[in-house]
Amino acid sequence: MTPAPTFDPPEAALEAARRAEGRGLCPECYGRLFGRLGHGLTNPERSERLRAAIGTPPAMSVGPCPVCGDLFDRLDVWVDRCLRAADGFEWHRFTCGSRWDPERLAAEETLWHEVGTEWGESARAAMNRELGKRLGARTGAEGGPDRPDVVFLADLPVGRVETTVLPLTVRGRYRKLDRTLPQTRWPCRRCQGRGCDHCRGTGKTYAESVEELIAAPLLTATGGEGSRFHGMGREDIDARMLGRGRPFVLEILRPRRRTVDLPAVVAELGRTAKDRVEVEELTLADPEEVAQVKEAAPEKSYRVGVRGDVPVAKVNEALDLALTRAIAQRTPTRVAHRRADRVRTRRIVAARLVDAAPGRFTLELRTEAGTYVKEWVEGDGGRTEPNLSALLGVPLKVEFLDVLEIHDTEAA
Ligand SMILES: [Zn+2]
Ligand SMILES: [Zn+2]
Repeated sequence: MTPAPTFDPPEAALEAARRAEGRGLCPECYGRLFGRLGHGLTNPERSERLRAAIGTPPAMSVGPCPVCGDLFDRLDVWVDRCLRAADGFEWHRFTCGSRWDPERLAAEETLWHEVGTEWGESARAAMNRELGKRLGARTGAEGGPDRPDVVFLADLPVGRVETTVLPLTVRGRYRKLDRTLPQTRWPCRRCQGRGCDHCRGTGKTYAESVEELIAAPLLTATGGEGSRFHGMGREDIDARMLGRGRPFVLEILRPRRRTVDLPAVVAELGRTAKDRVEVEELTLADPEEVAQVKEAAPEKSYRVGVRGDVPVAKVNEALDLALTRAIAQRTPTRVAHRRADRVRTRRIVAARLVDAAPGRFTLELRTEAGTYVKEWVEGDGGRTEPNLSALLGVPLKVEFLDVLEIHDTEAA
């Protein structure tokens, strides 16, 4: 039950109300001069009670209200404009805002001073709230500042509504089984994505990516216009991503539909990305999860195939030594073009030799986030110190690299 309205204006408010008379204010703008006084009343109701208290009859309007230009009588027109502007899009939560002629807002503040009210509420705040209420009543959607699907901006001077459709965010985990697939779309270096002979007009260095494979059925299901992919880190193109897979968040931009059959999307991926990408735990996510996934720095486990002629005993000795030392890694040569050149300190958390044959051996490593494993094995021309090659005193070459697990949850 809503509490009974309370309204008991002090004498100063009654005096201000008397000074507000004769200015041609509409009931909404008159009442809003005292908008922060009392609870449970609309501004026209405030207006009515104040005018009863000071003994003036309800004002007859003569021409448009000097504050709002009778905007508050035409809110349904703005509701219609909002609905038209978002036509074709599914939305359940919304936020309303409005753009005003600054002179009108300044004139309102001047009025507060002239009348001597300390309880005024701005026309803009009232407009946003009242428009939201009506839009909510008309559609059943939920108005408020949190996680809107769509933001409406009523541009009052121009007489139209601008909409911003917010992304639909999904998260999941992916396994990558294909050693030729990059995680995200790589624009062609020659043409920066415009399309040229070098990339056969695709604008891309690689025909496909994990991002594009996963996004495709979601774009179809939502009618979205594009996507943004955020992985919890990334693996090299030629590395597989195994185990429980890598957490990711995908934003679908300007989706027309938000009610999506995600199990059907996963099933579709099972066909379209077969033997290349597998997706699990696909669910709707909150927008904050984008930052959570990007900022997470979990430990990772790898399997590394190495070429190099070393006795097993020596490898084990070197691994034992490696576990006791922090690694200083200068930004690898191969990524220096896109990352700042600096030295970072990382640790190998666990390491063991799992397989050995003449001329090659296989390691399993667990490392801190951000460790460049290939460089730690090969040495990267001394940019990683210590490195396994130096510890063994022989040149080493990484033959393959698989990510076995991302340890982002306790379960792993
Ligand atoms: Zn008005
Ligand atoms: Zn190109």
